[in-house]
Amino acid sequence: MNNYEIVSPAGNLEKLKFAVLYGAHSVYFGGDSFNLRDKSRNFSHQDIEDALRFCKAHNVKTTFLLNSFVHEDDIKQLREYVKSIEHFDFDAVMISDPATLEIVQNSQLDCRIYLSTQMSTLNHLSANFWHRNGISRIVLARETTLDDIKKIRDSSSVELEIFAHGAVCISYSGRCLLSRYLSGRDANQGACSHPCRWNFALVEEKRPGFHLEIIEHKRDTHILSSKDLCLIHKITSFKDAGVNAFKIEGRMKSLYYAANVTRIYRHALDNPDLNNSFKDFYNSELDLVSHRPYTDDLFNEFSDMENRDVPYIKKVVFLGYINNEEQTDNPVVKTFNPIRPGDIIEAISPLNRDNILDTELTVLEIRNKDTQQPDELARPNSESYIKFDKSIPGNSILRKKMAV
Ligand code: SF4
Repeated sequence: MNNYEIVSPAGNLEKLKFAVLYGAHSVYFGGDSFNLRDKSRNFSHQDIEDALRFCKAHNVKTTFLLNSFVHEDDIKQLREYVKSIEHFDFDAVMISDPATLEIVQNSQLDCRIYLSTQMSTLNHLSANFWHRNGISRIVLARETTLDDIKKIRDSSSVELEIFAHGAVCISYSGRCLLSRYLSGRDANQGACSHPCRWNFALVEEKRPGFHLEIIEHKRDTHILSSKDLCLIHKITSFKDAGVNAFKIEGRMKSLYYAANVTRIYRHALDNPDLNNSFKDFYNSELDLVSHRPYTDDLFNEFSDMENRDVPYIKKVVFLGYINNEEQTDNPVVKTFNPIRPGDIIEAISPLNRDNILDTELTVLEIRNKDTQQPDELARPNSESYIKFDKSIPGNSILRKKMAV
């Protein structure tokens, strides 16, 4: 058994499946309420049942999110919601609020309890306090330095998880009122409208409506927006410091994002001796998922972290995936963006031992899945038989580089 876990985002059942197939040791997802992604297509009770079945079949752990903050008026509904899920066999639930901890501990839920990064745990006294009170794993505050992680590890036996990759908040570990103040949507209740990513201008008090340009960089002015976190090249240092689990952020991102980032981190953690030779490959793959410019400074060099020039970078179109489990010459493709005969595209595939390299393919023929007739186009949100110039593994994901 490895002594580390890659914890991948599962915004819906389809994303969960691909995170699992591409190397997650563990996945996290939320239900209808009380998690921090209100707008993600969260899991109904039926979805939860399907997710648990799929994860158990693949020996992958599950963390169910109950990590929103709880107002007085929420308590009754939270109790009822926890009651409605207490028969599920999660490996863990994630909480932020001591109220939720108490409700979960007094329920029939029979699983471990993890503490969200929202609790901003930064030191071993806090870690041990939570451990004594029933917490098995703590997602540390994103501001915890590598040195502090080592000190916490030396003085605490609680499991430690950190954010390894993805978007981060400009505010302290996500404790932020911007969204509530500017759009009436509470980030700590899962409804953030991301105003830190808005394009800002300056308005003088006596000239309302007259927007003075703030020149930050040539495209836009995002004075509050942070870069995305990317710890791929420091991951073994954090593992050696005693971190047990590495979280990939992104329940709102595509299944391509969840799958590709998961396979890169899994490969890097499983093959520390290959990290140098795969450095360029990791960089180019992580550049081919949608992101803002990356930083790995968030933990150790927080004061130097630049937060300027943060355009959203998107270099590939996610086309779809092979909806067959096994390698085949004539797969069924579920399409998210149009595919045409003659297109030259790329496939990424689930890790097969350490084989991680991508495949270039030419689309030879498309046939309608129902009529079996040739088609000039595989349309979004449909399934087609597509013949390529070579056979590709089941569950491969198809993408196309965008023209620059
Ligand atoms: S507005 Fe930005 S900083 Fe605040 S919670 Fe939302 S994403 Fe985080």
